[in-house]
Amino acid sequence: MEELNPFKIAQEQLDSAAEIMKLDKRAHAILREPKRVVMVNFPVKMDNGDTTLFNGFRVLYNDARGPGKGGIRFHPAETVDTVKALSAWMTWKCSLANIPFGGAKGGVICDTKKMSEGELERLSRGYIQAIGRFIGPKVDVPAPDVYTTPQIMAWMMDEYNKMAGHQEPGVITGKPLEIGGSEGRFNSTAMGAMYILREAVKKRGIDLKSARIAVQGFGNAGMFAMDLVTRLFGSKVVAISDSTGGIYSEKGLDYQRLIAAKEKTGSVSGYEGGSKLTNEQLLESDVDVLIPAAIENQITGSNAGKIRAKIVLELANGPITPEADSILFEKGILDLPDFLVNSGGVIVSYFEWVQNNYGYYWPEKEVYDKLDKLVTQSFSDVFKTQDTYKAKGTKITPRDAAYIVAVDRVAKAMKSRGWY
Ligand code: GLU
Repeated sequence: MEELNPFKIAQEQLDSAAEIMKLDKRAHAILREPKRVVMVNFPVKMDNGDTTLFNGFRVLYNDARGPGKGGIRFHPAETVDTVKALSAWMTWKCSLANIPFGGAKGGVICDTKKMSEGELERLSRGYIQAIGRFIGPKVDVPAPDVYTTPQIMAWMMDEYNKMAGHQEPGVITGKPLEIGGSEGRFNSTAMGAMYILREAVKKRGIDLKSARIAVQGFGNAGMFAMDLVTRLFGSKVVAISDSTGGIYSEKGLDYQRLIAAKEKTGSVSGYEGGSKLTNEQLLESDVDVLIPAAIENQITGSNAGKIRAKIVLELANGPITPEADSILFEKGILDLPDFLVNSGGVIVSYFEWVQNNYGYYWPEKEVYDKLDKLVTQSFSDVFKTQDTYKAKGTKITPRDAAYIVAVDRVAKAMKSRGWY
C-alpha cells in the first residue's frame, strides 16, 4: 500500500534529496523532525450555551534561518502529522524563496461551515490564548491557510496584542489592509503561481494564449488562479471543481458566472452551460496545464498514470505523492513542486512583516514587482540545480532539485549556528 501519511511523505521526500546531495548525516537527522510541537485543548463557548473543547496544534519545524512562518488551518480532518508535514514544507518554501524565515504551521480540528461568526471569533481568540506564548514577530509568525481568513487573522492579532500589552502587527500576516495587511497579499499565492507558469511554459513550448487549463479547487488559491490565468494570459479554463464536484466547458468558463453559481447553488458544478464532471475526471482531463489547488494526496500511484496534462502546477500543499511524482516524471510531464509554485503567499507575508516592522507601506505594484523577482529567481535556482545534476549524469525531478536548494540553505544556517 502506498504511504499517504503526509509527514511520512515529507520525510521520504527529504530522504530522497539528502541521498542525492549527500547531506551531512547530522544535519539530515535534525531536519527529519520538528523542533517543537505544541498541542492544546481549549474550551469555546458555543451559541447554544454549551462549551466545546477544541484540539489545536502549532508546530515549529525549524528556525535556523529566522522566525517560524506558516499558516493556520481550521479543518475537521486536521491531525498532528498533517501539521508537522505542512510545517516541514513551509521550511523548504521559505528557504527556496530565500526569505529570512524558518517553517511552522498550525491547525485546529473544527468544521467552520457549521459555526457561527461569533463561535469562529471565540475559537480564534481561544486558540491564540492557548498558543500565544509560542508565537511572536521574532519567534513564529502565523498566517491564513485552508478555511482561515483575513478577518480571523485580525481577531488573532487583536488577542495577541491584548496578551502582549502593546501593538504587534507583525505577529501575524494576511491581515486586512486597515490593520497592517499588505497590498496584494490576498491574491499573492495565485499571482506567484502565474509568474512560475509564465516561466514553465517556456520549457514546454506552450503558448499561454491558446492554452487549455483545468483547476482543482475553488478556495482562495484556485479561484484567483482561475481568474488570473484568463485575465493575464488569455488562457481558457475549461474545467474547475470544488469539494463537491466540477464543471467542464470547451468554450472556457467565466469567472463571474462561477462565483454566481457557487453563491446560488453552493458549488461551481451549478454553473449553467457546461457539463458536470467529478474531481477524478477533472484531474485526468486532456488539458495543457493542470492546477491542483485543493488539498493533499490528490494525485497518487493509482491515478498518476492517467494524467494527460503537459504541465502540473501544484498550487495546493502536498497534492502529489512520491509514487505519483516518479510516474509523472517518467511520462515526461513537467510537474512543478508545491513549495515553489505556491510560495507567493508566504513571500508577500514576508513583505507584510517587513512593512509592519518599518511602519511604512508599499503600493501593490511594488509588492508584485518584488514578488516576481523572488519567485522567478527560485524557479531559475531549481532548474539550474536540475541541469547541474543532469550534467553529472543524474536525472532528478524538479522537486528533488527544489529540495536540494532549500535543504542546503537550511543546513548551512544550522552549521553556522553550531547546531552540528
Ligand atoms: N498558508 C500559506 C502557505 O502555505 C501562507 C503561509 C504564510 O503566509 O505564512 O504557504
